[in-house]
Amino acid sequence: MGRTEAAIPKPKTRFLKVKCSSCGNEQIIFSNANSNVKCLACNNILAESKGGKVKLRAKVVKELD
Ligand SMILES: [Zn+2]
Repeated sequence: MGRTEAAIPKPKTRFLKVKCSSCGNEQIIFSNANSNVKCLACNNILAESKGGKVKLRAKVVKELD
């Protein structure tokens, strides 16, 4: 049995599950959003777009692949 541990290239982008600090709503956002991401429940800004990357303003609950 061969032990080929192929390096799986990790994409730079990923999805994050965040929790709104304002209302507690949890939602999944894309880490490379091109525009500000708002909470679907209360419109609070969860992540600010900074040139292809986002600056999180909400707490990350879980990182998803
Ligand atoms: Zn909210």
